[in-house]
Amino acid sequence: MPRARSSSPSPGRLRARGTGAVLASILACLGLIAGAGGALAAAEPLPSFGALSAQLGQGLVPAALADLTAHDDDPLYRIRATYAPETHALDGHLRAEYRNRSADTLTDLGLYTFANSSAFHGASLTLSHVAINGQVVTPRPLDQGADQLLDLPRPCAPGQLLVLTAAFHLVLSTSAGDNGLDEQSQDQACLYAWYPVIAGRAAGAWLLHPINDLTDPCALDMAHLLVELTVPAGMAVASGGTITSDRPSTGSGRIVTIVAPFTRDLAVVIGAQLHALTTTVGATTVSSWSVPAQSTAAQQSLAIAAKALTLFSAFGPYPYTHLTVVQTPMSQDAEGMESSSLILISSLIPKELGVDQGQVDASAQKTVDFVYNMVVSHEVAHQWFYNLVGSDPYVTPWLDESLADWSDNYYLESHAGSFPADAGWKESAMDIAKSGCLNHSAAGTVDSYQGKGQDYESVIYSRGGLMYQALRQRLGPQRFLDFLRSWVSAKRYLIADQATWRAAIIQALGPADGEAFARTWLEGTGLTLPDISSAALSAPALQPATP
Ligand SMILES: [Zn+2]
Repeated sequence: MPRARSSSPSPGRLRARGTGAVLASILACLGLIAGAGGALAAAEPLPSFGALSAQLGQGLVPAALADLTAHDDDPLYRIRATYAPETHALDGHLRAEYRNRSADTLTDLGLYTFANSSAFHGASLTLSHVAINGQVVTPRPLDQGADQLLDLPRPCAPGQLLVLTAAFHLVLSTSAGDNGLDEQSQDQACLYAWYPVIAGRAAGAWLLHPINDLTDPCALDMAHLLVELTVPAGMAVASGGTITSDRPSTGSGRIVTIVAPFTRDLAVVIGAQLHALTTTVGATTVSSWSVPAQSTAAQQSLAIAAKALTLFSAFGPYPYTHLTVVQTPMSQDAEGMESSSLILISSLIPKELGVDQGQVDASAQKTVDFVYNMVVSHEVAHQWFYNLVGSDPYVTPWLDESLADWSDNYYLESHAGSFPADAGWKESAMDIAKSGCLNHSAAGTVDSYQGKGQDYESVIYSRGGLMYQALRQRLGPQRFLDFLRSWVSAKRYLIADQATWRAAIIQALGPADGEAFARTWLEGTGLTLPDISSAALSAPALQPATP
């Protein structure tokens, strides 16, 4: 989730999109489809998953390869696309193999085409030649075209396979994108929600919710992707997943092959001036991309991302060979954004903090350091809470954001540097005290916060993060770490919901205390400011902090 920033002498923050109150008071605180790259037809013989798994396995560390075998029925996308910067557009073909893993016989298929939402400010994603199992179908657009419903030519029983094929045309916004997503600006294109995605499904229905610019688009299933992306010569490509080959195309460009196993959304940033700094954490290469003028920020982001990856791996193993960080222009309401194995960090952070490159005094540097530590660690934490453990950001926006918020404060506590170790916790407590939302329930959908970005910040992020700090204090370091590990392990590669969370809390605290904890911290019933103050304290480390 993107975070927006505030700026003041004491650490503070805004975290949601659309608040507008940046730099404020707290932190200063089928059929055959012809076209570029060739057709992807339903009639093509399907390679076995085993044949493809060797390719997909190039994106996973050795310890995670067995996970691929256990998830061979996850959706499989093959995409060929060509990016044309002169028209800020991308043309592509998609072939998605989707097995009906529900207990329902499907009569339709939900599809996300998020870029059509007005939240993306002029971007669009249009489909043509849409077919299911080779039979042409006509999509029915929903929610401004941000979702589509496809009627199946024949019902699809549990366990059966559907093959969706389509051509798509993405036009990037040249003004704002969605906080910079699906936007081409400053000679850089940020592809995010750039291809059609089959919707998540729960309780017998497709999760086709309205797009709300306070939160991420929607609940995305894990999928495996094989992508061939053609870009002009001289353009660098920073991508989620792993780039396995980069070769000249028949024209003047290059074809970049990307394998992306276990991916909820594949983000790609393309730019002529981008270059990368790299380091390694275990078997994972961490890279941080920027234009030359941003190389100081890229260096800082790289160091933080590597330390955060190390710290958070205590929650469960990070499975990918790569973690990619990209400094990219985002709106003033967003500091960062997560996607599977790639995080975006706003290249405008120093500017929005009022800091000119090269003229940073000690006080301003402290603020910049705090924001980078908070934002980069927050987005890395989403690799566990959002990515490995998915959730529905419309129905339960708190489910991943509260844990990502707790994690960034825990990172600040563990790697405090030039600011107090409890700075993050204290800032959250201040935010809650100022908001007047102490007793608001966090359990509503994101629509209940429409036009109330500050309330959303306070309840979903600040109070959500302190909820876990209260749980940490109650359970002690070892039992709390066990709680986090079992949460990640039980829902790894899946989508968690509120009922699952409640059951986990009850298991950790017992029935009576667990229910009381959920009522107090999730629903806000009886929560007091002294409760907040008590929670906003550092606690014994879950493991020795990495130097
Ligand atoms: Zn977030």
